[in-house]
Amino acid sequence: MNWQPIVEQIENATGSAFKLLNVRPLAGGDINSAYCLQGAGKSYFVKINRAETIAMFAAEAAGLTELAATRTVRIPALVAYGQSAEHAFLVLEYIEFGTANKNSDRLFGQQLALLHRQPQSFFGWHRNNTIGSTPQPNDKNDDWITFWRTQRVQHQLRLAAAKGYRGRLETLGPKLCEMLGHFFEGYRPHPALLHGDLWGGNVSTDGQGNPVIFDPACYYGDREADLAMTELFGGFSPDFYTAYRDTYSLDPGYTTRKKLYNLYHILNHLNLFGSGYLRQAEMMMDSLLAEVR
Ligand code: ADP
Repeated sequence: MNWQPIVEQIENATGSAFKLLNVRPLAGGDINSAYCLQGAGKSYFVKINRAETIAMFAAEAAGLTELAATRTVRIPALVAYGQSAEHAFLVLEYIEFGTANKNSDRLFGQQLALLHRQPQSFFGWHRNNTIGSTPQPNDKNDDWITFWRTQRVQHQLRLAAAKGYRGRLETLGPKLCEMLGHFFEGYRPHPALLHGDLWGGNVSTDGQGNPVIFDPACYYGDREADLAMTELFGGFSPDFYTAYRDTYSLDPGYTTRKKLYNLYHILNHLNLFGSGYLRQAEMMMDSLLAEVR
């Protein structure tokens, strides 16, 4: 691996010399290769992928910048992103993750609620991005139900059909899309800046126990979608949910809608990781349809 183009980009972005002393591979990423670039007294976090994936890193950089501008949850600072002959790369502040303290979860609940309380003016985003490595369309829309139907559920169903997942998925999908309005009776979501991929693997704490979130798939959407994903693979601690609700209370219909929101991620897992997620997706759709029959 030739690190020179990345070192040059770091030097251009920071305006100071960076002598690379050591490169340490980091575990944990699903999609990209991640490294800690160590210099004298300064380290950087770097993600690498094929050169064609530059738009993915450009969108991630835009998301990190917008999240950081809310000054709510700690976000690794963007240093640079770019392309060499063989690779696309994203360079961020390296954060030495530490262990959570007794306040970390509560703080995260408050900070996420404050992020979600900042008003946005439309659903969607100013650019498309990716969820995992799946393209995620974010066309602007003033109507959340239309957005969720077309840009989220139908989009993943189309990708699934193209991969050959037909059968029940193909009959349940359109039925669910037709019934979407029923899940929103008496509830009007407001657009909020979402992290968009908020599972436990994208949340940590810094050395002082402050929450840190990274690897976003940002858009403006119903905040319940972010919260739902925190419950999808294990769930966060009760302190987190209590602090979130104390800061920004939740509508009772969230309990049902969270399944609708997590269906998007399960369909995405089906498309990314294969048929192991098919049964789960079908069961979620069955149970959602049973709620509105
Ligand atoms: P991927 O896009 O491949 O899923 P991630 O952005 O999740 O990659 O990063 C991979 C791993 O690197 C994470 O699980 C986390 O442990 C670590 N990591 C992410 N960002 C930073 C950072 N700014 N500083 C230090 N470690 C980080």
